[in-house]
Amino acid sequence: MNRPEKVHWIRPEKLSEYPTGPGFNAGHLVTINAGWRTFRPVIDLNKCTTCLRCYLVCPDGTIYKKYGKVAVEYDFCKGCGVCAHECKVGAICMEKEDGNG
Ligand code: SF4
Ligand code: SF4
Repeated sequence: MNRPEKVHWIRPEKLSEYPTGPGFNAGHLVTINAGWRTFRPVIDLNKCTTCLRCYLVCPDGTIYKKYGKVAVEYDFCKGCGVCAHECKVGAICMEKEDGNG
């Protein structure tokens, strides 16, 4: 059986090099987080440049803009930490959940 040609993935350097981002608005997912998240992303708005890189990489589409600021919809965030890893200015910190939802 022929396998598809392997393509080397090159990490984009600029926003314009990214493919189209998530095709749905934050909050479109229908099942809320079941409470198993152990860390949640917290955005330091003093460091955030609103580049929206985190929005592009979030696998659950839970990052959105509210009143010109970036925010996380915690009902749907699974706490994977991709956004924190990819934020170039270190504006997202993964903080331990306190267990109170
Ligand atoms: S990637 Fe970082 S700097 Fe860019 S919008 Fe998200 S939190 Fe802000
Ligand atoms: S922790 Fe994961 S699911 Fe939550 S906002 Fe960041 S990238 Fe999205």
